[in-house]
Amino acid sequence: MRPLKLAIPNKGRLSDDAIRLLRRAGVHLRGSSDRKLFASALDGRIQVLYLRAQDIPSFVADRTVDAGITGLDVVREAGHGLDERLDLGFGRCRLVAAVPDDHPAREVADLADGVRIATSFPNLTRAHFAALGKQAKVTEVSGACEVTPMLGVADAITDLTSSGSTLLMNHLRPIGTLLESTCHLVTAPDVDPEVADELDRIVFALQSVVAAQDKRYLLADVPRAALDEIRAFLPGLAGPTVVELAGRDDWVAIQVVVDEADVYDAVHRLQGLGGKGILIVPIDRLVP
Ligand code: AMP
Repeated sequence: MRPLKLAIPNKGRLSDDAIRLLRRAGVHLRGSSDRKLFASALDGRIQVLYLRAQDIPSFVADRTVDAGITGLDVVREAGHGLDERLDLGFGRCRLVAAVPDDHPAREVADLADGVRIATSFPNLTRAHFAALGKQAKVTEVSGACEVTPMLGVADAITDLTSSGSTLLMNHLRPIGTLLESTCHLVTAPDVDPEVADELDRIVFALQSVVAAQDKRYLLADVPRAALDEIRAFLPGLAGPTVVELAGRDDWVAIQVVVDEADVYDAVHRLQGLGGKGILIVPIDRLVP
């Protein structure tokens, strides 16, 4: 049985987040921590290759690796028709069209035919303008796209943005979103049967980490009389688990998975109903 080869980004935030996510899924990488090229995990069942995020789709497509973790933006730009097996939730950004602040366009459709666009995403950009029935002169740049309007070599750009501060600093205003992107685990459509089981296992493990990320485990002691009301606002996955407290007929303990976004209000309401000893704990993995 050969190892499953998995490519992950070799530097920056995406690399750190991918390594953290794998670790939480139980895939601890060993070896070559300084000069990151390779690492192995699960007693050699998984071999990790550190590659440039932009190169990962091609290496997956030509079967150099069996799976890759990289941004959906570069996957779609490469256009190899890869299977987008799992949205990993991190590396969130948008590919936007942007124009200088003083440009009259409010949306992409306002741009005139013949508009000059600089971008590192020529394929996605051409496709987007073609779908709108617009003629655009698309020039590929490998970086620093945001300065091209100032240099007078482009009228508009398409570029990735997350906080928006780079666009703002360069006096650019977004006028439309071409793609919402997050990191995905991708594979070729036909996975080598020899590694298919291992691939299913790692997808399942990562899925359980992603599912747990915005969830918390809530434990509390509550008056038994308040249970019906609590069940109404804390449905959990299958209702809260209710545990009897020895020698306390009028009190029970509850355990329930809650959305992180609901924790703030839930604690307040539990306190209002007399809840005590309320604990909120993170969940590493959630396997329903
Ligand atoms: P911003 O936070 O909008 O100022 O983005 C800063 C720069 O980081 C942008 O110019 C993008 O090229 C890049 N960037 C932001 N988010 C991502 C991401 N998830 N993946 C790759 N590049 C990104």
